[in-house]
Amino acid sequence: MDFINKNNKLFLSIEDELLNKLTNIAIKNFPNESGGILIGNYSSDFRTLYIRDFITPKIQKKSLFFYKRSVSNLSETLKKLYEEKEQYYIGEWHSHPNGNSMYSSTDLNAMISIAESDTVNIKNPILLILGIKKNKVEEFSIYFYNNKGLHRYE
Ligand SMILES: [Zn+2]
Repeated sequence: MDFINKNNKLFLSIEDELLNKLTNIAIKNFPNESGGILIGNYSSDFRTLYIRDFITPKIQKKSLFFYKRSVSNLSETLKKLYEEKEQYYIGEWHSHPNGNSMYSSTDLNAMISIAESDTVNIKNPILLILGIKKNKVEEFSIYFYNNKGLHRYE
C-alpha cells in the first residue's frame, strides 16, 4: 500500500502483509492497547519511506510511550538490523481500542520527545494508529512528524 503527503511531496510504502500483522496483534489484544516500534528505511532521495518490519518490546505499557525503555533494551537488535539490512528505527505504531485513528495530544507530545531525543537519528519519525472495534480495524492513519506537528499521509 502506498501513501503520499502532497504538500510535502513525501511518500510512504508498507506491504499489505505487514499491515495485516499489525492489525492482527491489535485485534488480539483488544480491548487493551498494543503497539511497538517500526523499522524501515528511506529511498536514496529520502522522499519515500519504506516500513519494513516492526518490533514489539517485551515490556508493554497500557498507555503510549514505552519508547525510551524499549529503545534502550533494543539497542543491540537495532544495531544488528542496521548492519545487516540497513534498516533502522523509523517510528511508532499503536492501537486505539474503541477509538478512531486521530492522534491525541499525548501522542503528539510523545512524538516531539522522540524527534528531539539524542538516540533517534530520523528527523521525521512516523506514527501509525489503528482504530480498533472488537474484531476489525475501523480506520487507520499514518502520520509523519515535522516541526512540532503530525501530518497525515493520504
Ligand atoms: Zn494514540
